[in-house]
Amino acid sequence: MDKRKLERFKKSLLNMRGEILKKSKKLKEDSYTLGTDGIQDMADAASNSYNVDILMSISDNDIKLLKDIDNALDKIKNSNYGICEECEEKITEKRLEANPVARYCITCQRMMEEKGM
Ligand SMILES: [Zn+2]
Repeated sequence: MDKRKLERFKKSLLNMRGEILKKSKKLKEDSYTLGTDGIQDMADAASNSYNVDILMSISDNDIKLLKDIDNALDKIKNSNYGICEECEEKITEKRLEANPVARYCITCQRMMEEKGM
């Protein structure tokens, strides 16, 4: 995948990540005032650790999504983004555009769903 496309996926992943963290920050502010160190720099894509309090205020679904986003960002960093984790074939760009955190190609995904994974 060329660099420009990769940058675009990276940007949308960071956006997704920012939205989740923003939502959780808001949730927290609704209950009590957030300290200045309450949230990590959202632009810091390299960081995989989050403030525990923030994580506590995020739904399980969002935590799963955050992990998937970090996983995808790691793959961009290691230049294996867009490669299926199961069969190592390329994941189509159309699929990645619909779901930038996709880990598997459509064939493997379907197979796993059939197996109930
Ligand atoms: Zn596959």
